[in-house]
Amino acid sequence: MEVATFVPMKDTPKHQGQRRQLVKLLMDKGIADAQVLAALGAIPRHWYMDQGLEAYAYVDKAYPIAADQTISQPYTVAFQTQLLDLQKGDKVLEIGTGSGYQTAVLLAHEGVSIYTIERQQQLFKKTALLFKKIGLRPKKVIFGDGYQGLPEQAPFDAIIVTAGAVQVPKPLLEQLAIGGRLVIPVGEKDQIMTRYVRTSEKSFDRQTFGNFRFVPLLKNKS
Ligand code: SAH
Repeated sequence: MEVATFVPMKDTPKHQGQRRQLVKLLMDKGIADAQVLAALGAIPRHWYMDQGLEAYAYVDKAYPIAADQTISQPYTVAFQTQLLDLQKGDKVLEIGTGSGYQTAVLLAHEGVSIYTIERQQQLFKKTALLFKKIGLRPKKVIFGDGYQGLPEQAPFDAIIVTAGAVQVPKPLLEQLAIGGRLVIPVGEKDQIMTRYVRTSEKSFDRQTFGNFRFVPLLKNKS
């Protein structure tokens, strides 16, 4: 018989010290947004790591999580969040909840509401449970295909995709508010970080920001 045990989540001075070092490293690598740096300095990434890998939580690398997916590298999380340029009151959609770490970084911004979608059921369940345990409250954690966005909640002020898309999903562009930002890694083998800003009903500004490597954004697969 399996006995449920409650293990409180710890955040020790050692973890906090490691986070300060990580924040310094991110600054050296060019992350400048004060809110983003504060978020990465505050959030215990070790809570989001798979069992046995907690010791690596403050190394600036991606690590495996359940269902053959990865927890994004802290630099990538900081970089994407910085590009989202979050403002108080923003309604935000995240595609690819994964470990939930990026979700926590988004939620650290004052006055934002977060909708997050994950298509791997195992990860969805695990991370939804973690959020409950640590008291993290996205507006909604959804099991489903984020390729289609979340039309019933559109428009969004910001949309972040944390998996590599071969093409930019049209529904995501359509679900941006005017002035809204979509940050998405685009490409097959590796990806170019791309930001779209909706400037009017019919026009978008597109800017690119260098190469990254993500697990693929899946489309219409179960
Ligand atoms: N932000 C997460 C990244 C996880 S990796 C973290 O740092 O932990 C990317 C995630 O996107 C995976 O969990 C994968 O299952 C999910 N994903 C891939 N295609 C998806 C889709 N179409 N809809 C929703 N989630 C998707």
